[in-house]
Amino acid sequence: MFPGARHFLITIAGAILTLLALPASAETVFAPGSLCTILAPDSESAANLVRDPARWQCNGARWRVDGNAASFVRIDMTGLPRGGTPVPDETLNTRLTRFGALWITAIGADGSTATREIAHDDLRFASTSWTMRMPLPRLESGAAVQAYVVKVIGARHKGLLSDVEIAPAPDERAVGDDELILAALCGLMLMPLALNFAIYRVLRQPFALWHALGVFAMLTQTAVASGIVNRFVSLSLNQICLLSSLSWSLTIIAASRFFDDLLEPGMLGKRQKQLLLGVIPWVLFWSVYYNLAGGPLLSSVASVYYASFLPFIGLLAWTMATAAMRGSRTVWFQIIGWAPLITMGVVRITSMLGATDTPMGLMSAQHFSIAFEVLVTTLGAADRFMAIKDQRDRALTQARILESLAERDPLTGLYNRRGFEERYTRLVLDGFSTMAVLDLDHFKSINDTRGHATGDAVLRAVALALMPDEDTVVVRIGGEEFLLLLRGKNGAERAERRRQAIPARIAAEVPMLDRPVTASMGLVTGAPPMRFADLYRKCDRLLYEAKAAGRNRTEMHTFSASASSLGLPPSEPEQNVVSLH
Ligand code: GH3
Ligand code: MG
Ligand code: MG
Repeated sequence: MFPGARHFLITIAGAILTLLALPASAETVFAPGSLCTILAPDSESAANLVRDPARWQCNGARWRVDGNAASFVRIDMTGLPRGGTPVPDETLNTRLTRFGALWITAIGADGSTATREIAHDDLRFASTSWTMRMPLPRLESGAAVQAYVVKVIGARHKGLLSDVEIAPAPDERAVGDDELILAALCGLMLMPLALNFAIYRVLRQPFALWHALGVFAMLTQTAVASGIVNRFVSLSLNQICLLSSLSWSLTIIAASRFFDDLLEPGMLGKRQKQLLLGVIPWVLFWSVYYNLAGGPLLSSVASVYYASFLPFIGLLAWTMATAAMRGSRTVWFQIIGWAPLITMGVVRITSMLGATDTPMGLMSAQHFSIAFEVLVTTLGAADRFMAIKDQRDRALTQARILESLAERDPLTGLYNRRGFEERYTRLVLDGFSTMAVLDLDHFKSINDTRGHATGDAVLRAVALALMPDEDTVVVRIGGEEFLLLLRGKNGAERAERRRQAIPARIAAEVPMLDRPVTASMGLVTGAPPMRFADLYRKCDRLLYEAKAAGRNRTEMHTFSASASSLGLPPSEPEQNVVSLH
């Protein structure tokens, strides 16, 4: 069985038995190796209390902490193989817990005592567990130690009492398997952190950032609660406890935000979304309460704090169930990812509400549950990322198709007037300075004699003859009228070549025609940047002149001497109109 679950069952069974047990019969001596506790006024001394064994509760005791009294634990050292002889490197180990003040008294077999107050500086923290070690007082007489008695005031958890043991201090330089496993778990969580930032860069969806925050908080919780953080930095007891509770708060805030944001739209009701948002003030309030409450509240502060997680767990279960019933795919990653952590949380909370603090065995279950949660929810985030990206890509493709439908002429595939006009300014800035407007000669008669379909075939052949390329934009302006916009010095020449190629191309593509189909063209070159309508009007006027002059020719106007490239003599700017045919 899972060690955490076994501990849990033992704890619960122990708690039930304790509750059922009749008041323990009064003892007159402490049993060898026993662990006994008593709650007594602050003013009481350990040496005095141990004189009356009947007052103590032993083995299976109901551990108690109280803001107004001191808790005592007596650890009997007799009956041990070495018979209580102090070992130099022995320390008192217990659960890492905040406390107000703590004293350890050694009681010798000869009746002598020695007491040491433990300062926070005396504490040493384990690097593989949630425990702390304290130095033991030494009896001056050198007598065998019969018992150690711990007196503590202001302890925040019962675990400080129930988990005490006297044990040799471990070799701090040695790196054990536990540490390697914990380091690997922490390392494992760094990957999702990087992945989340990558997802955010592409999608700009807040869920990636919430997940990153959650992973960071869980990484912090694991590094702190496992003790591995103590390998790298030297933290005080208060800092360790604060980091642990804050990382839990941050985990829950980030998890609830991540969950809400990640789910597909429409999976949760308005009320559920509001409650998920309410998790933030709820968690913050109890976190502050846990860290600051003291005095008479102290005896219940840990239990109340642990219990404050229950509504969150309930809310998570409710919202997950709703989303699952509404057909969410994403929620399954959450359900599977959270299942071990929620189970562990419920066990921790219920044991906290019982006789003892959370069983120590649950801590390693916690580390693995957290790593599992991070892994599965990261898969969930990646899955959602793919879904959203796929959706966006499809929408983008649709938009592009619609856009190109709107700006292209369906018959020839050339730009239509609208598509071209949108690009005109950009093209002029890119150096396109020659414009030509072409119109087929006597096109109507083809329609009249050969039918509309043949007319269409002729128009497609013209598009082929005009050959758009990176320096030549070709537009079907309407009917059998085309526009060329060219870049480069010999734009006019290239436009003229295209016009002259039209009859042969039409003859090749539409062989049943009995006469060559020619085109007339009006061309303006070297134009300074001007509005499309103005330049087009000039071309159109020249085209009209070409038609009037007998068709199958070009009328050209040049704004500079560049017309010489056509083998024509240069003429005055603005006055250079030539005919080509
Ligand atoms: P001109 O030499 O003076 O330009 O004479 P034309 O016959 O070419 O010019 P006109 O403006 O008289 O006729 C143009 C014809 O083009 C009229 C119209 O039916 C035809 N037309 C316009 N769009 C299309 C089209 O998409 N397909 C076909 N087949 N014909 C079209
Ligand atoms: Mg025409
Ligand atoms: Mg026309």
